[in-house]
Amino acid sequence: MDDLDERIETLAGWIAAVKYLVMFTGAGISTESGIHDFRGPDGLWTRQEKGLPPPPKVDWSRVQPNQAHYAITTLQNMGKLKFLITQNVDNLHLKSGIKPELIAEFHGNITKLKCTSCENQIDAFPDLIYTDCPICEQGKLVSSIVNFGDSIPRKAYEDSVRHSKQCDLFIVAGSSLTVYPATEMPEIALKAGAKLVIINGEKTLFDNRCHLRFWEKTGTVLSLMISKLDKLIDT
Ligand SMILES: [Zn+2]
Repeated sequence: MDDLDERIETLAGWIAAVKYLVMFTGAGISTESGIHDFRGPDGLWTRQEKGLPPPPKVDWSRVQPNQAHYAITTLQNMGKLKFLITQNVDNLHLKSGIKPELIAEFHGNITKLKCTSCENQIDAFPDLIYTDCPICEQGKLVSSIVNFGDSIPRKAYEDSVRHSKQCDLFIVAGSSLTVYPATEMPEIALKAGAKLVIINGEKTLFDNRCHLRFWEKTGTVLSLMISKLDKLIDT
C-alpha cells in the first residue's frame, strides 16, 4: 500500500465514523472545471507576479462541476455532510446538487442577486437588477458578489461559525486559507476538538496543525475517498 492509499483509507475511516462533517472549499476545487485559481501554478496572482497576462476569460454558462464537487454532493446525500462553506462564486456546488440550506457562499454567487435589506437571494436575471426586493419590499436587488474589502454576508458568516463549532471533522479542499474569515473557520473547528484535513496543492497556514494532509488534486483525493468509503460501508 503506498502512502496515498494509506491516507485515503484513514480519511474514509474518519468519514465513515463522523458525526458532524463540515467542509470548506476554495478556488482549487474548481480548477479541474477550467476555472483559474489564484495561487496555483497557473493562478491569477501567480501569473501576475510572473508578469504574465491574465488567463482567457471563462464562459460561465459552459462551466460544469467536476468529480470533486460531485464527491461532496455524494457525502451530502449519504447524510454525512452537515454544512459546506465555500469561497467560490462559480455556483458549481449548487449546480452539482448541494441543497441551498447546507451551503454558505462567503463571496456570493455569480448567478444570484441579493436584497440590500433582507439578504435573500434570487436568480440573477439582468432586468431585475436595482429593482425592489419582492420578498421584503424594503431593499433593492444588487449583485450578490462580495468584492475585495467588503464584508462577508452576515448569515453566511454566522451559520459557518455555528457549524464549525459543532463539527468533529473539518475538511478543507482547494483553499490556501489565507484570507480572513477563511482562516477563522478551521481555527474554530480545532478549538472545538475536531480533526482537520487539508487537501490543497499549495502551502496553507494550518499545515503544521492538521491531522491529515493531501497535496494531490482535490478531484483525485475525494473520488478515491468515496470509492473507499463505499467499500467500508458495504462490509
Ligand atoms: Zn428583501
